[in-house]
Amino acid sequence: MSDCIFCRIVAGEIPSKRVYADDAAVAFLDLAPFKAGHTLVVPRTHVSDALADAGVLASIAPAVVATGRLLTEKLGASGMNVLSNVGADAGQSVFHLHVHLVPRYADDPGMGALLTPAASDDLDAVHARITATA
Ligand code: AMP
Ligand code: ZN
Repeated sequence: MSDCIFCRIVAGEIPSKRVYADDAAVAFLDLAPFKAGHTLVVPRTHVSDALADAGVLASIAPAVVATGRLLTEKLGASGMNVLSNVGADAGQSVFHLHVHLVPRYADDPGMGALLTPAASDDLDAVHARITATA
């Protein structure tokens, strides 16, 4: 898609700070990093998000793992947030599937607020909604 910024990065039409690439995916630094080394892994094939196509999502798994290990090794990260936003309501702003790799470092609360558990008293209700068959 010529109007997709990540397709254009994959094609080399827009510059990026590439850190890894294979036959299925390209990984490059996020322009607005949450943490040092924040990287995006994107498929070479355009799909809108991580739930759009299981095959495309699976195809980038080796690149996600390789890039995550690379960041850990090179940056001395002690942890990693691996996440993908699907849909505007989940914070997705670029509609070409991308997996965020956010290296984490000791004693660094960073994105902790994002990972704070929500109230647990509605677990039953949420579980029921997910497992309902009707
Ligand atoms: P999301 O909000 O999950 O869709 O993530 C999109 C990410 O893409 C954001 O973290 C942006 O900072 C990042 N981004 C947007 N344009 C570029 C670009 N040209 N190069 C690198 N990262 C970008
Ligand atoms: Zn695209």
